[in-house]
Amino acid sequence: MFRSLCLGRIRGIDVNVHPSFGLVFVWVFIEWGFGNGGGLTPVFLGCLFVVLIFVSVLIHELGHCAMAVQFGNRVLDITLWPFGGVARIEQMPSEPKSEILISLAGPAMTLAIVVALLPLLLFVAVIGGWEALVPDSGFFDRITPLDLLVYLAATNAFLLAFNLLPAFPMDGGRVLRAALSPALGRQRATTAAVWVGMGFGAAMIVAGLWFRLYTLIIFALFLMLAAQAEGRTVRVESAMRRLTVGQFALWDMGGVSPHQPLTFALRGGPRDLVVTDNGKVVGMLWRAQLLNGLNGGVAGRTVGDVMDRHVYVADMSDSVYDVQRVMNRLDRWAVPVTEDGLYRGIFTADRFVHLYRQIAPNPFRVDLRELDSWRAAIADSVRSWQRQR
Ligand SMILES: [Zn+2]
Repeated sequence: MFRSLCLGRIRGIDVNVHPSFGLVFVWVFIEWGFGNGGGLTPVFLGCLFVVLIFVSVLIHELGHCAMAVQFGNRVLDITLWPFGGVARIEQMPSEPKSEILISLAGPAMTLAIVVALLPLLLFVAVIGGWEALVPDSGFFDRITPLDLLVYLAATNAFLLAFNLLPAFPMDGGRVLRAALSPALGRQRATTAAVWVGMGFGAAMIVAGLWFRLYTLIIFALFLMLAAQAEGRTVRVESAMRRLTVGQFALWDMGGVSPHQPLTFALRGGPRDLVVTDNGKVVGMLWRAQLLNGLNGGVAGRTVGDVMDRHVYVADMSDSVYDVQRVMNRLDRWAVPVTEDGLYRGIFTADRFVHLYRQIAPNPFRVDLRELDSWRAAIADSVRSWQRQR
């Protein structure tokens, strides 16, 4: 997939736009740049319309983000796609009440846009009569700036109605999931919302075929894929809550001592090392720090001189989910794992590969690759133990 372009930051949240958005502008040029009624003005108004919709969707997503921040969640970024926006919120809350409020905050902003446009529409109606509110069928061919307002309000009203559909991945689907969660549990409530989403998608495909609205069919397919993806995310998430880091840590015989010379830590190549004293974790020697430390000359310097003393330490029984959240927040790739306060092994970001492999795509199927990942994990730890010696 193409990388999204970063447009800027709003209150620490990266706003990205997906490159496929460029296709919309190409479409505007093809639709209104050429042929009957085409020209510079329709193209300009068309582009302006796309930008205004873009801003509307951004405001909608910022509504979700602001509410998420209220509930103490971290917002990673917002990506705007031609079909709408996606705000990535870390730990979408499992608590139904906050999930409902976060889900409704977006549509509330869209409603606010519609309400804010109403006085302007009224103004249009007073000046040009009520029929001015029904633009010519030529769409942008004979469009006036006032018509643009009408389109903007109508599109936002449509977005509002659409987002409130009780189907995943629309906001209404999240509200449905949150409402079903107390009775069914989060995972089964998600499955139910996914199936409702698939049902809506199927109905839209039938309607699209019947009325020959092919855009509707494409949109429905997108909706169904997104619903499936959401269901998978929740399955992975609940598995990560169930599994402990102890199951995925690389066993390590002791780590490196803070009194060792820095050169000793270089054995086996530069990598993130856990520094231990009498079995207790006292710091981390990050690969970058180690390389920096070497730049200034190693003579007489010990591991303790350059190590990071403020490290987050996970317990064997901590869930992978919690540990992954902390790793994301601290932007760290490795975490020492202890048992009863004593160092046992290291959990690194690349362990997630093994973890994802272990999580079967179908909850009712036993994944035989699980055995492979265990074999690989054992081989890895033996190798790292040999390097350590
Ligand atoms: Zn939304």
